[in-house]
Amino acid sequence: MRNIQMVDLRTQYGKIKADIDLAVSDVVNSCQFINGPAVKGFARNLEAYLGVNHVVPCANGTDALQIALMALNLKPGDEVITTPFTFAATSEVIALLNLKPVFVDVDPRYFLMDIDQLKKAINPATKCIIPVHLFGQVCNMEAIMALANAHHIYVVEDNAQAIGASCNMGGEWEKAGTIGHIGCTSFFPSKNLGCFGDGGALFTNDKDLAAKIQMIANHGSSRRYYHEKIGVNSRLDAIQAAVLNVKLQHLDVYNEARARAAEQYNQLLAGIPDLITPDIAPHSTHVFHQYTVKVKQNRDEVCKELKANGIPTGIYYPVPLHLQEAYDVYGYRKGDFPVSEDLAEKVLSLPMHTELTNEIQEYITDSLLTALSTNKLQIN
Ligand SMILES: *Cc1c(COP(=O)(O)O)cnc(C)c1O
Repeated sequence: MRNIQMVDLRTQYGKIKADIDLAVSDVVNSCQFINGPAVKGFARNLEAYLGVNHVVPCANGTDALQIALMALNLKPGDEVITTPFTFAATSEVIALLNLKPVFVDVDPRYFLMDIDQLKKAINPATKCIIPVHLFGQVCNMEAIMALANAHHIYVVEDNAQAIGASCNMGGEWEKAGTIGHIGCTSFFPSKNLGCFGDGGALFTNDKDLAAKIQMIANHGSSRRYYHEKIGVNSRLDAIQAAVLNVKLQHLDVYNEARARAAEQYNQLLAGIPDLITPDIAPHSTHVFHQYTVKVKQNRDEVCKELKANGIPTGIYYPVPLHLQEAYDVYGYRKGDFPVSEDLAEKVLSLPMHTELTNEIQEYITDSLLTALSTNKLQIN
């Protein structure tokens, strides 16, 4: 089988080409490339989709996280709690703003922030929590919000991987990213709602925070050439907004296609002793940004064998953040977060996108099963 991809954006584009091309050429013809009607229209449409009061688009997901932290009036040294099993952007912005990243481990089943560990890490210096809705499912936001409210701590959701997912909040299902004080997302091409370059956004229900976020993203200015705060220049391009406006209409269908593909993988891989397929947390829906299995032994060999069969895979993430060189200064050591460290050695993400067919999936799982059994023979 040829040309299997982790994410098949070409086939997806082919199906909506006419709409996308028209939306892009409308922007080109209007020459309103910056903050024009396409950007405002997309922000309003995303507000309606998420059921949130304010969406502020920005240049990428990393900027969204940085701007969120800048909007909270934190002081140097204030502690921000997150998990080490995430993309570096989450903790990078904490460190960049001279705040202190404090890691807590994830749970071994859903790979999400461990609530008991979070409880233990909260202290008077804790000012913010950044739960990461990893691989497409939402952290236990009910527990996190209860802790945050009890201790007067801000919550900034890293929703780069779970747009469209929902979390059960006392019987009401609420969209990921709209539950904390601020939600952040990325429109990187391979994300569940991806554009044709970089893009990101912040969400909030708080009017004052929304105004502040808007101001910070626009050079700390809400009135042209008057600057109230040191800000940044972080904008979503109008052409990207036009693409996103079209793709947003398909987001639920795309997420359903991912969930169906995940279900198919689950069936094809059921009952294999050396493999653990992903579980869905009862408090959350799952939009399968990644379909990530745990390979109990010889993960890297299995991965190589799949590659030789033309099957790309991903390892998200091979080194937890507390063991990265850049985080040496914070004094963490191997053994501090055993679940994240174990996952780093075992996780394997299979191709996951909106265009998978049964035929492709069967080829992938057949190859995976063969690779698992040959690698078992080699060690026995
Ligand atoms: C993609 C991603 C980001 C960063 O988004 P960019 O748009 O690439 O800056 C942040 N956090 C997580 C968990 C991500 O997956």
